[in-house]
Formats: sequence, structure tokens, C-alpha cells
Amino acid sequence: MDLELTPADRAFQREVLEFMDTHLTPELRAGARLTTSVFADYDLNIRWHRILHKKGWVAPHWPAEYGGTGWSEMQRYIFAGACAANSAPSLSPMGLRMCGPVLMRFGTPEQKAFYLPRILAGEDYWCQGYSEPGSGSDLASLQCRAISDGDDYVINGTKIWTTHAHFANRMFCLVRTDNSGKPQEGITFLLIDMKTPGIEVKAIVTMAGDHEVNQVFFDNVRVPKANRVGAEGDGWTVAKYLLEFERGGAYAAALRVALSSVRALAQGQGTNGQSLADDPDFRAKLAATEIELLAMEVTEHRIMTALSNGQNPGPASSMLKARGTEMQQRLGELGLEAIGYYATPDQIQARQPGANLPIIGPEDALCVVPRYLNNRAASIYGGSNEIQRNIMAKLVLGL
Ligand SMILES: Cc1cc2nc3c(=O)[nH]c(=O)nc-3n(C[C@H](O)[C@H](O)[C@H](O)COP(=O)(O)OP(=O)(O)OC[C@H]3O[C@@H](n4cnc5c(N)ncnc54)[C@H](O)[C@@H]3O)c2cc1C
Repeated sequence: MDLELTPADRAFQREVLEFMDTHLTPELRAGARLTTSVFADYDLNIRWHRILHKKGWVAPHWPAEYGGTGWSEMQRYIFAGACAANSAPSLSPMGLRMCGPVLMRFGTPEQKAFYLPRILAGEDYWCQGYSEPGSGSDLASLQCRAISDGDDYVINGTKIWTTHAHFANRMFCLVRTDNSGKPQEGITFLLIDMKTPGIEVKAIVTMAGDHEVNQVFFDNVRVPKANRVGAEGDGWTVAKYLLEFERGGAYAAALRVALSSVRALAQGQGTNGQSLADDPDFRAKLAATEIELLAMEVTEHRIMTALSNGQNPGPASSMLKARGTEMQQRLGELGLEAIGYYATPDQIQARQPGANLPIIGPEDALCVVPRYLNNRAASIYGGSNEIQRNIMAKLVLGL
């Protein structure tokens, strides 16, 4: 594994940084810094999405034939690192990283021609209808029912924890079309227009005070069979393929930004005139976290090398998901420690983009608590970390 950047990689890195200097406005950066959840709110992320689309850079992971960048693994890594280091708004993964790759693999020519350009242009905004009350880790037990009726399916049931369903105009959804055989065999993958009559989206406000997730109800919702991806009853295969994309990704660059932010916060705090950054116990915790971060970076490089040699990431995506989210949580805890009693005031209004309210405590402390609270979900969503460990136990350790 050679981690040295080639002259061509360095030139590419300069091009990316120059682009960010001119197109990533202070307003976009400020909005991203106020983001406390996995990805930025619709207004912010779609603006950055369209800027990247205009440049042809919105889909680094797509093959060039579908409008992707055609970049090498190293170029993608450089780009992701530059986005994290420069506080670029995080884009929604639902269309670009989940539905898009699934359509490329399983979609009909008509579905590809219609949906893929719309995902690239940011015309469609997708949400993921997998989980149900009682069906999360045990996803194959899902009960949202689709009954065949002529050229349509008629859907009844509910989906829960549906991120950004209140912004989305489309949902990719798993429904039950058959109850007779093994649970996995009766599942079908559908694309649903969220404006179809009979769909109701109800907000779930998180403990951080944010509206990010929802419960979605279906009452006799008619979905054309032309919107089915793959064969009826083959949805489990499609769903599993999509999860590989959901769980992959690079964490180290964003973790490094979070670590620097904790360091900066710790400089300003402490008792008896001494900064927390000088406290030996706190310094030891920061050092231990940085060592883990370095290990994570090397692991990401190792996986990147395997990918660029055409290998499949396999259970590595589970490993990255588990370690990356645990480190997010660890840094959240250290951030909380660093701001001390400034963790107490609830300042949800002050952290809305464009808010002009006085802030209690240092400005950088504003998002520490909501981010800490939001990060509790990181080891649950995308398949809980216990489930990721089960996958590693089976595929890596052969248990
Ligand atoms: C913020 C957030 C956003 C989300 N967004 C979406 C979304 O957009 N779309 C969507 O479809 N879903 C979404 N989810 C749902 C998410 O995928 C599920 O919450 C997750 O899969 C866990 O399922 P569950 O909540 O039903 O918990 P359960 O499956 O009931 O698990 C409860 C606990 O038991 C443990 N457990 C369960 N089974 C096992 C096992 N076999 N071995 C060991 N431990 C086990 C779990 O790890 C967990 O700790 C989101 C969740 C959150 C928190």
C-alpha cells in the first residue's frame, strides 16, 4: 500500500481545493457547521448538490457512463477528505449512494433513463422505507402489505424512522407481497411517489430537538407495477445489495475535524485558570482517541487499495461502520466534557441557520450537545453495531 500522493493526485487535490474556495460559500460552510445530524437539512444539502452537479462532481461513486466522475479511489478519497476538512454540507445518501446504484444494477432501461438523471440533478429527493415498528434488525419480518390489483399494487401499513420523508418526493420501499414461504422470499422492492393519495408523514422529534425522522402511513396507496425494481418476491436481494452501499464510506476525515474541534474547545475551559487541554487525564483520552483515529485512517487506506484493485469490500463495510460510529460517539463525549457547564442551556433557536440570537458560551460549543445526542443513533441506524458484529463474526471469524 503506497500512501504517497502522485503528482497527478496532488494536482487533483489543488483543483478540488480551488473549487471549494470559490464555490463553497461562507453561508454554506456556516450551515454545515450547524448541522448536528447525519446529513444536512434539505435546503442546505440540495444547494451544494446542485453546485456539484453543475461541475460534474456530484456522483464520485457512479460509473462515468451514468454521469459519474470516473475518478480513481484515491481521487474520491481526496475529494471526501476536502469536503470534510472544508465544512461542506453533507449530501443525502438516499438517491446518490443507495437508490442510484440499485437502479444501475437491477433497474429496467426505462427506470434507469427516468430516475438516474433526476437523482444526479437533485430533482428527486429520496427516502428509505425499510424499517417498521417491530422490524428493524429483523428486517425480513416486515409486514407492510402490497396486494396485486391489475397494473398496480395496493399498499397498506407503516414505515418508521424514515429520515427526511418530510422533504422527499420519492421513497424506495420494501413491501410484503407474499406471506407463504420463508419471510425473505415474499418481499418486493418498490419506488413510490410520495404525493400519491393515502400517504401520511408524521414527524418524530429526536431527543436533540430536531425533526429528522418520521413515521409514514400507507392507506390503500396505489403504486404502478412498473415501479417495481427486480422481480416480485426478489426484493430481499435488492435490499441487501443496497445495504452494502449504506454501510460503506469514509469516516476518518470527518473524525479528524471533530477531534480538532474538541481540542480547540478544551483550550478554553478548565478550573483555577488552567485549561482542560493541559489536564493530563484529558490529554491521555485525546491521545488514545487520536491513536484509534490513525488506525482507522490506515484501515480506510487498506480498504481503498483493495477496492482500487477491483476487490469487494465485503465485511469491511461492517467494520468501518461499527468503528467509525463508535469513534463519533467517543468524540461527542469528549466534546461534552470539554464544554463543561455550557452543555446545560438548550439553545435550539440559536443554532438554526441565519438565527441572530445571543449565544450562551463559546460559539463552537453551540452544537456539541445536540451532536452528542444525535450521535447516540449512529450505532443504531444503518443496521445496529451489534448486527455489524454478528456479520463480522460470521464472515471474518467464521463463527
Ligand atoms: C436516526 C435514525 C435514522 C434512521 N433512518 C432510517 C431510514 O431512513 N429508513 C429506514 O428504513 N430505517 C431507518 N432507521 C431505522 C434503523 O435502521 C433501525 O433502527 C435499526 O435497524 C435497528 O432496528 P430497531 O430500531 O427495530 O431495533 P431492534 O432491531 O429492535 O434492536 C433493539 C436492540 O437489540 C439489538 N439486537 C437486535 N437483534 C440482534 C441480534 N440478532 N444480535 C444482537 N443484538 C441484536 C440491537 O442491536 C439493538 O440494540 C433509522 C434509525 C435511526 C435511529
